[in-house]
Amino acid sequence: VQGYKGHKVAVLGLGRSGLATAAALRAGGAEPLLWDDSPEARARAEAAGWTCHDLTREGAFHGVAALITSPGIPHLYPQPNRVIAAAMEQGIPVDNDIGLFFRSWAMPDWDNFETTPRTVCVTGSNGKSTTTALIHHILDHAGRPTQMAGNIGRGVLDIEPAQDGEVVVLELSSYQTDLARALTPDIAVFTNLSPDHFDRHAGLGGYFAAKRRLFVEGGPDRAVIGVDEKEGVFLANQIATSREDDRVIRISAAKKLGDFGWSVFARKGFLAEWRKGRQVGSIDLRDIAGLPGAHNHQNACAAYAACRSLGIAPKVIEEAFHSFKGLPHRSQTIAVKRGVRYVNDSKATNVDSAEKALEAFSNIRWIAGGLGKEGGVKSLQPHLGHVRKAYFIGHSGRDFALELDGLDHEICETMERAVERAAEDAEPGDTVLLAPAAASFDQYKSFEKRGDHFAELVVALPD
Ligand code: ADP
Repeated sequence: VQGYKGHKVAVLGLGRSGLATAAALRAGGAEPLLWDDSPEARARAEAAGWTCHDLTREGAFHGVAALITSPGIPHLYPQPNRVIAAAMEQGIPVDNDIGLFFRSWAMPDWDNFETTPRTVCVTGSNGKSTTTALIHHILDHAGRPTQMAGNIGRGVLDIEPAQDGEVVVLELSSYQTDLARALTPDIAVFTNLSPDHFDRHAGLGGYFAAKRRLFVEGGPDRAVIGVDEKEGVFLANQIATSREDDRVIRISAAKKLGDFGWSVFARKGFLAEWRKGRQVGSIDLRDIAGLPGAHNHQNACAAYAACRSLGIAPKVIEEAFHSFKGLPHRSQTIAVKRGVRYVNDSKATNVDSAEKALEAFSNIRWIAGGLGKEGGVKSLQPHLGHVRKAYFIGHSGRDFALELDGLDHEICETMERAVERAAEDAEPGDTVLLAPAAASFDQYKSFEKRGDHFAELVVALPD
């Protein structure tokens, strides 16, 4: 990381990204001062050879040039973090690893402009990981050097130095976009918006504002924007200088959009690309195993638009769609046993993503519940047409049963019991679907652990 040579830089939060940040700062000649409120995290850092500096004590920021925080730390809501608040009160710039990445690694080197990596950033409420992985997969299939990082697992400061013509694809959550002091992607993608993480962003306005920063402040060369909600329509309209402006590619999984400068939309299972009032491309999405359901058709449109912007041919994108395996825990078929399909969508942690899964499959035996989110699940009522019966688990199981009227259901409490009961009831042609519409933390460490547990139980069922 450039820009802090010879300066002290405080690093708050010592998870993977925090330690990668510290290493990158040190490599750039800065002196990182590391801190985490959790003694376990400090012990891990110390075991890795770092010394910790208590950033909560008086005068801790004396002579410090900046504070770099981890995305997992809420900075303002529901309560200000005391270290971040102290830095802000003293006028110390607060940034995160994404900001550092854009300030140094992704800055064009004007003498070698062609070798500066192109960056694609993907944000939105749902579909970020799938879209990010799909873009990366298409580029890889097309033979373009590419790396993937951000919220999808690898810290941005962990990526290898870029090669010529490389495209770095970053998944960014609202937690990462809200604090980054530099955000200048070449291509920015906004998938969709639905209520989530309100506690931390003080409502929908703050959440949308955090995501919007990617589009309005840096000014990407191209913006790919899902316009199936009013916020996307607003964002596209705010960036485009006219209806014909092809700096914005509007995407939709619900409506025909032919009239704009550039658009990509999916209807009746076909993807269509339109430019200046004419259709220029089409792909049949109906039997693509790695992209089931209308929600994945939205992801396909977003990835197609981003890759077309990078000059990838439609034929190559179509081939890559067919070889895309999908991501674990997202509409992932674990097994077909006795004619019954078992699908792990543990990542459906909010009502919107659960709704998409409930629409994407039929004859569903639905396993749901966990740590419920604000607002409950009443809004799922109109989307239960394909559900034969629900098997509720976790803390919110009983509430879900009360909120959803007239749904045949059992309170199973545990995943073991839910899988067992659903398998007993299921008939050939049914789909047993884990799409919890809730967080996992009441019973599991993460949605991945919940999905893995489901998969283990399914694998152990008799063939
Ligand atoms: P994110 O990274 O934004 O959380 P994922 O690709 O991991 O997105 O998908 C999260 C959940 O949302 C999964 O349950 C998945 O099946 C569902 N999903 C995927 N794409 C979309 C979409 N475009 N709209 C709504 N739900 C989606």
